[in-house]
Amino acid sequence: MNRKSFLKSLALLPLATYNMKLQDFPKLVENAPNTTKMPSLFVGHGSPMNALADNAFTRSLRKLGTEFKKEGKKPSAILVVSAHWLTRGSFVNINPKPETIHDFGGFPKELFDMQYPAPGAPEKAKETALLSHLLFETEEWGLDHGTWSILVHLFPEADVPVFQLSIDFHQPLQYHLDLARELRAMREKGVLIIGSGNIVHNLRMSIPKLQSGDSAPYDWALEFDTWVAEKIADGDYAALTNYEQIGSAGKMAVPTTDHYIPLLYTLGLSDGKEAVQQVYESVEYGGMSMRTFQVG
Ligand code: ZN
Repeated sequence: MNRKSFLKSLALLPLATYNMKLQDFPKLVENAPNTTKMPSLFVGHGSPMNALADNAFTRSLRKLGTEFKKEGKKPSAILVVSAHWLTRGSFVNINPKPETIHDFGGFPKELFDMQYPAPGAPEKAKETALLSHLLFETEEWGLDHGTWSILVHLFPEADVPVFQLSIDFHQPLQYHLDLARELRAMREKGVLIIGSGNIVHNLRMSIPKLQSGDSAPYDWALEFDTWVAEKIADGDYAALTNYEQIGSAGKMAVPTTDHYIPLLYTLGLSDGKEAVQQVYESVEYGGMSMRTFQVG
């Protein structure tokens, strides 16, 4: 359209359309979508009881959360890949009002009473689904504890819309790294993507330690956690899809892959050249790594 026809088309608009007052401008800017490129996070969520706790781990999440309150850094939405939503096929949750799911047993009532009333993000979820032919939409999920037990600390006001991406538990590890690559564009749209699991997660070996109050890490847990940290620092993400190469430590640290897979999403969202910032690092109950880090 040339300048003349542009001016002519303006003349056809109702007066109110362009008779915007200057004082309305800040309102528009406030409501403008956040297009700051967001980092990707991996959070080692550990016990659901962390939702209620005030400890070094939860304080590190609260501190990190305050960074996202700074001007221009607030996410437009949060996408969590949680170890606790395992499916056949990959789904994004388009529920506009996701319920707080208490997907555990044997914990105090106080934990079952907790709610995380953040709105859903159906539009962002649909936009995400368009990025890959592997993704399907569903309303059949809310927010599981892999999501809300960490968000109560990162974003306690529950004022950022949240949606989840499921883990197709019938696919090889490479699938998850590849799918995450297809979703990189969402980081450019102000979406904070969080993988929520644990790099080392052996409950069978951790429970006796928890009961006896012995918190010394197992050698295999430290060995595996360190090996993963080195591969992340080197940007060698491909090695992490073949973790069994380090032998028995890998098998002990990752007896099942549900808590490990979210890590591959956090990493696949990066090209391996971005800065990695450690947020928290500790192996607890002998066999659970709480390592938490930010990429980008
Ligand atoms: Zn978990």
